[in-house]
Amino acid sequence: MITLTTNIKEYSSIVGQDIIDELYLLAGKLEGKVIRNINSTKVGGGVAEILNRMISLLEQLSVDARWDTIKGDENFFNITKKMHNALHGVDVEISLEEFMYFLEINRKNAKEMDFTGDIFFIHDPQPIVLVELKESLGNKWVWRCHVDFTTPKEEVMAFLKLYIEKYDSAVFSAPAFARKLRVPQVLISPSIDPLSDKNKDLSQEEIDSVLEKFGIDKSRPIVTQISRFDYLKDPIGVIEVYKRVKRHLDCQLVLAGGGATDDPEGVKVLEEVKNAAADDPDIFVLLLPPKSDVEINALQRASSVILQKSLKEGFGLTVAEALWKEKPVIASAVGGIPLQIAHKHSGILTYSIDGTVHYLKQLLYEPEYAKGLAQNGKEHIKNNFLITRHIKDYLLLFLSLYNGG
Ligand code: UDP
Repeated sequence: MITLTTNIKEYSSIVGQDIIDELYLLAGKLEGKVIRNINSTKVGGGVAEILNRMISLLEQLSVDARWDTIKGDENFFNITKKMHNALHGVDVEISLEEFMYFLEINRKNAKEMDFTGDIFFIHDPQPIVLVELKESLGNKWVWRCHVDFTTPKEEVMAFLKLYIEKYDSAVFSAPAFARKLRVPQVLISPSIDPLSDKNKDLSQEEIDSVLEKFGIDKSRPIVTQISRFDYLKDPIGVIEVYKRVKRHLDCQLVLAGGGATDDPEGVKVLEEVKNAAADDPDIFVLLLPPKSDVEINALQRASSVILQKSLKEGFGLTVAEALWKEKPVIASAVGGIPLQIAHKHSGILTYSIDGTVHYLKQLLYEPEYAKGLAQNGKEHIKNNFLITRHIKDYLLLFLSLYNGG
């Protein structure tokens, strides 16, 4: 069980009591059902971020939600990272032997894990093969895809399709990811928790003390990207943007992120980022340990502009986190990001380094314009991407499995 300091009732001050009453009503209809979430890591990345909050809030609504992770060795996670990259359209080769090893580890987990439950909610490709148990166990199986599915490598897609189509339902984060699949598809966007340490209000003293800890100057503009060190987040591109903007105006760049236990590529990317940043004292490359939520919160709040220059993005929780803090955001128009940003209304969408340089200069030169974008952005996140909406969508999904909905 995860213990959380926030109580579900506290959310009424943000979203209204009606929403909370509705959650209790829906949750009551799931009485006696065990919902077992399975993914591949408890630490790092958006999936773990959401599950950490979601499970505890479901428990408070008296839903018996549980969360397990599959076990795998380095070889397994190297293969799943390759699959992840391939699904995002990156050109990688996965051998037959690797596909076989992927199956082997999934089947080993299928033998070792606890499968008591009513609904098996399987997150992302890593544990996807567990659905083979459906034939013997029965019950309801849902596959929750958090990755950007716009241009997957067909070979990997064809392999995964064999398993996706065994599920009762598949959930995607954005309409752009819908595909021709023989399985009912549901659209549910991710969310942020406004009361978590990552997103709660902080005092100016708390924010300043984090800046001080990292040696960041609060009197000069701060441009930040928070992300795992992953090529698909384009940290090197961010450094290039910063260097070009810096020729025109003074600013600092913060690239902060940690690793995820299911992402073996992080160390290599971090090394490259450090090399690219090497001789500039105004670039802060921060490798954050797990549980750095308050630090991330403070860095986002202290920033003049937040960047998310991803090349692919399932959703991009960091965008929602920044907008919730009423920060102007410039982000790539990829994956789930355009759901969060309407260009020049609730933030800026870009397609290139040139575009990002152009708009970063504009937002730094025109803080009033940037402020307007940020205010609209916060409103949009409040109306669409808070965890209460996400819980409601999940409860309705679970109920639909029994009502043929
Ligand atoms: N995050 C974190 N520590 C880090 C880097 C990222 O806690 O060092 C969080 C970040 O604040 C966000 C999540 O991890 O909540 C990343 O989710 P996102 O959807 O942006 O990207 P993903 O990592 O899932 O590709």
